[in-house]
Amino acid sequence: MDQKKKPLYIRVSPKDNVAITVDEVKKGVEIMEGVVTSQDIPRAHKIALEDIPKDGEIIRYGVVLGYAIDPIAKGDWINENMLRLPTPPGLDHLTFATNIRTDLPDPPPYTFEGFKNEGTYAGTRNLLGIITTVQCVAGVLNVAVERIRRELLPKYPNVDGVVPVNHAYGCGVAINAPEAKVPIRAIANLCKHPNFGGELMIVGLGCEKLTPDRITDRLSEENVLILQDYKGFEEMVPAIMRMAEKKLERLNRRKREVLPLSDLIIGMQCGGSDAFSGITANPAAGYAADMLVKAGATVLFSEVTEVRDGIEFLAHRAVNDQVGCALAREMRWYDNYLEAGGADRSANPTPGNKKGGLSNIVEKAMGSIAKSGTSPIVEVLSPGERPTRHGLIYAATPASDIVCGPMQLASGITLQVFMTGRGTPYGLAAAPVVKVSSSTNLKEMWPDLIDINAGTIATGDATIEEVGTELYKFILDVASGRKQSFAERWKLYNDLCIFNPAPIT
Ligand code: CA
Repeated sequence: MDQKKKPLYIRVSPKDNVAITVDEVKKGVEIMEGVVTSQDIPRAHKIALEDIPKDGEIIRYGVVLGYAIDPIAKGDWINENMLRLPTPPGLDHLTFATNIRTDLPDPPPYTFEGFKNEGTYAGTRNLLGIITTVQCVAGVLNVAVERIRRELLPKYPNVDGVVPVNHAYGCGVAINAPEAKVPIRAIANLCKHPNFGGELMIVGLGCEKLTPDRITDRLSEENVLILQDYKGFEEMVPAIMRMAEKKLERLNRRKREVLPLSDLIIGMQCGGSDAFSGITANPAAGYAADMLVKAGATVLFSEVTEVRDGIEFLAHRAVNDQVGCALAREMRWYDNYLEAGGADRSANPTPGNKKGGLSNIVEKAMGSIAKSGTSPIVEVLSPGERPTRHGLIYAATPASDIVCGPMQLASGITLQVFMTGRGTPYGLAAAPVVKVSSSTNLKEMWPDLIDINAGTIATGDATIEEVGTELYKFILDVASGRKQSFAERWKLYNDLCIFNPAPIT
């Protein structure tokens, strides 16, 4: 029988002087001609393919990841303690629109089944969203939501669920500080989320700083309920339920219909990345993103500190100077934000990233930007803004999984694709989250949490195009309600951590 020999290593660019091990490699193995391992090398870690002198460049993805602190010999393991971080690329002399690709891959179907909304993107789920203006009301609201689920929802079978939009913002905050516009805008835009079907329900306390008029102009007794107006807890819960039932009656009349993909908006995120993420899960997601864009959909990608070191590549894909300058503006804002906190982008990689073979933020960023595919970037959003264009959009958010998720929700995503190397059970109540693993090991460890395994790309069992097409189809199945992701099936819903760069008082 012809047994296909599995590769021992992966080298991305011919310029690279390092490769990534596909599995743990023992000392004394010749992984390629003339390169013998000088020690045991863990799975997904870097091995030097040539002698690198002190201060010499360490190159992966054709990009300088860093400089050798001490001489490194051919065959050595290169870990995160052996590189010095390069200075970040400058933002003042970027060139825009020099790499505008039009030959994107052809997607198979061009439609999905969603809940149409007038004037905005369609919903992928039909949900009653209940927005809060302050964390103080969350306890009461959660009690009411439990009763709504038990006592009311069974009467309205076309409604998929009830989502309390609880968050930490709203009071004890410097509401007039310049950057308070970020959380306020995010919560205001969550009121308009496509999966909430145009129904508005706000629960406030009555003495908070985030007054309802700051997040909506649809102020009425039908939409806004203030707890301090009610006599005791026992009056509050029935009042919330009465308002909810009116909304459920209307939501229940909504039906899925076949829609063009221009009605679909999804987000891309990665978390718990490892050295495989950038060669398996993220490029497969990028291929799916290219197909979605070609089919007319809108795809958001984010995570400023994880694209900062790849900014030159993204600048070339900005459709025009205006979009390019907006990209540089968001990078600069974040550089200053980090500097004001006494940090820089090197604060990003986690111990788990490093254990997974990612030495520093440059290496992480090169893998991270692969999930944006190759399409032109048509718009740039500040955190929590809503898009005005269709296509690939850069939506600036922190890279933190639990902050990026809610901020992309505020921008309107109705589904998120999440690539992971180390594994995370993260999920969102307001939109399904689809998990893609960077390795087969993770899929085997978590068969009931990972939806798509991209690890077959590293072992040579599948191509980026094959996994990307599988993911594209799965995205449309989940968006259309034909399938559920595991995070949705198990109801793994994280808290909504809204990005607040302004002071807390
Ligand atoms: Ca993330």
